[in-house]
Amino acid sequence: MAIRTEFEFIDRVRLKYGLRRIGDDCAVLPKDRRWDTVITADLLVEGIDFRRAWTTPAKLGHRALAVSLSDVAAMGANPLWSMVSLGIPKVLWKHGFGEKFYEGWYALASCFGVELIGGDVSETPESLVIDSVVGGEAKKGHAVLRSGAKAGDLIFVTGSLGGARGGLQLLDRGKSVPRRRNARAAAIIERQTRPVPRIEEGKRLGTGKFASAMIDISDGLSSDLGHICRASGVGAKIYANKIPVDPNLAHLGLTDDEKLDFALNGGEDFELLFTVDPKKKLRMQKAMLGYPISYIGEITPDAGKIVLIGELGPKFLAAGGYRHFQALE
Ligand SMILES: [Mg+2]
Repeated sequence: MAIRTEFEFIDRVRLKYGLRRIGDDCAVLPKDRRWDTVITADLLVEGIDFRRAWTTPAKLGHRALAVSLSDVAAMGANPLWSMVSLGIPKVLWKHGFGEKFYEGWYALASCFGVELIGGDVSETPESLVIDSVVGGEAKKGHAVLRSGAKAGDLIFVTGSLGGARGGLQLLDRGKSVPRRRNARAAAIIERQTRPVPRIEEGKRLGTGKFASAMIDISDGLSSDLGHICRASGVGAKIYANKIPVDPNLAHLGLTDDEKLDFALNGGEDFELLFTVDPKKKLRMQKAMLGYPISYIGEITPDAGKIVLIGELGPKFLAAGGYRHFQALE
């Protein structure tokens, strides 16, 4: 049987070897009587996850750490340390890629008190390869899993969606440096090349035990909500007019439907998608005062079914998010 997606591949390995800790944004390991350790790994490959021409070494350093920090945020945990391994083509060595990469890495790490504790460096024939590992901690039993959503829970998302996909479109058209100073264009390009992990928001949701399930939006809202529904054995309905579409997408001259498509399926916004028991809603909103969050729908008992309620009525929403590879034969 051909394996069609990375998710199927991971699922097959997980089942074959009976691996219990795989399947969330981070693995959760017992540390001591009071704390659990959380740990995550991300692989960034040139030409697949990023293009060198679209970014800078410092922004790549930022991004490599940010995507892993975002997974720690999605557990409601506090990041503490990181290991970074780099495979660098010889030509980039000569131009000081490593130093500039770590400048970007350190600037972000220092915002959250994250310490570099190791890693490895090697040479590759052509393409850059970056392996980022981040570990952190959560109070015992407080790490927020994907599997805790219950029918009737309310669905929320932080920030806005679709901007990173819009930035990708601009970069694809060769607009890495907008000719005229344009704040909207610059903002969506920045969302793609320099994402900001929602660490503080995640910690508040985790330590307050407000979120019943949580995930970061790396693949796209439709895919990532699908991950929560599958892990929790539930369904969801979301409202098109409540999706927080990134206002800076106005720069691209898209139709409302196209903007909504970017927000639902674009991916890489690294916002947090989480579910909340309605009884905890008011306390959660109080704890999150000053942080941008939007209510977008509810969890339903219809396992695996995600319904989008739009102007023309309800329709089933297929997972349309970004896949790193479509057909692995
Ligand atoms: Mg994730």
